[in-house]
Amino acid sequence: MSTTHKLLSISPNELIEFLKTIGITRFYFIYDKKDKRVIPSHKELKPIADFLNLDKRDFNFHEGLFFRISKKYDTLLGAFIHRTNRGQAAGGVRYWDYESMEDYLRDGLRLSKGMTHKNALAGLWWGGGKGVMAHNPEIDKNDPEIRSGIYREYGELITSLRGCYVTAEDVGTNVDDMSNIFSRTRFTTCIPPSLGGSGNPSIPTARGVVAGMKAALKFSAGAALKGKTIAIQGMGNVGSPLIKFLFEEKVKKIIACDIFPEVVERAKHEFAGENLEAYIAERIDASIFGADCDILSPCATGAVINPQTIPLIKAKIICGAANNQLEDSERDGKELHKRGIIYIPDFLTNRMGIVNCANEQYGYVNDDPFIERHLLLDWKHSVYQTALHVLNESKKTNQPSAKVAVRLADKISKENHPVFGHRGQQIIDSLVADKWHEQI
Ligand code: NAD
Repeated sequence: MSTTHKLLSISPNELIEFLKTIGITRFYFIYDKKDKRVIPSHKELKPIADFLNLDKRDFNFHEGLFFRISKKYDTLLGAFIHRTNRGQAAGGVRYWDYESMEDYLRDGLRLSKGMTHKNALAGLWWGGGKGVMAHNPEIDKNDPEIRSGIYREYGELITSLRGCYVTAEDVGTNVDDMSNIFSRTRFTTCIPPSLGGSGNPSIPTARGVVAGMKAALKFSAGAALKGKTIAIQGMGNVGSPLIKFLFEEKVKKIIACDIFPEVVERAKHEFAGENLEAYIAERIDASIFGADCDILSPCATGAVINPQTIPLIKAKIICGAANNQLEDSERDGKELHKRGIIYIPDFLTNRMGIVNCANEQYGYVNDDPFIERHLLLDWKHSVYQTALHVLNESKKTNQPSAKVAVRLADKISKENHPVFGHRGQQIIDSLVADKWHEQI
């Protein structure tokens, strides 16, 4: 097995063991724009830099990837900084299980790039980044002491990066975890309201999904949500208020599933008297994709639109909150387009999570116009108008909506911040100049 393959096929824990034997606790990979290649902090990690240099799928000239081994809990803590032209890289921190380093790196690369696109398309003056913490299966992540310790260390990592990445909540991370991060760094959003944060963004996110559905209906048939049937996968923080908003729009029926019986029971109870068909689904149950409906709304996990599920889909529109719904953006976007299924790109319609917390430091006003305008039908950059623009472009150019949206977002993401310019890159340069990787 080649060294490259070895460093990528081992688990994050095995990598940690290897790094300990050669005395590495911090390391990075930065993209050198002059040399046009990824440079590792340590020569021993060149195989990973080679992998990044050769990868065509997920690596996208990410400005910097910074990692640290947790001092106490043998956990790999990472910050993936994709692009900072529009401002500091912003995106949540995910705490997840990864079988291999390749899985871990690919997740961070893909998610951070996705955040660049999401933030840019929303017109936010933020770049794109993502935090990824690899769960060490040998520790109990639900032990309150261990958990708070890991998140405090994550906050220390963020502080050490001097503000080129600003973290937030994501899958596997909760509000208490954010308080622990906040106890060690100022570079975070999504802190609890008791500490001045904006609180749970799921309700605005659900409203953003409704706006995306309205745009898709307007584009396809000039129609409204009234009388339509919607199928929803996942009735969690977003799925549940989404059901409420859709019934307020007088949809005819909602078919929804969740893997947890208590979630299904709660929904049946909450929406008793409404035309809700809620059922328990196994994690691998794809029946919701074949539901007889007008709109399919994935609100559970990513990669659910793929060659196995696409042939089942009866809906003419897909619009949901889940991140990275298309397993392969290029392949699956093309297939949906070919089949005439309107796909509202997830990062366009689920932007309200980041919109809600992005500008916490500017304080709050009632019905905040900086947030509410994203949900208006007439603001040029609202979810509704952006979705219509993308769908019209998709029709005009005969290209998948996902591709059109990425192209538009990519262009916007390269505009420099009007006041601070490309400061995130300057911060990264200064970290490298100051030998960040040699500090403890
Ligand atoms: P959540 O964890 O509260 O809800 C997800 C629900 O989906 C859970 O109830 C879970 O049991 C269910 N589920 C998981 N796998 C399933 C499966 N195979 N079939 C059916 N149900 C399944 O998460 P959430 O906050 O509601 O977010 C939902 C999705 O939207 C996630 O992908 C998230 O990353 C994305 N998102 C959320 C926000 C937000 O503001 N919360 C913002 C942007 C994107």
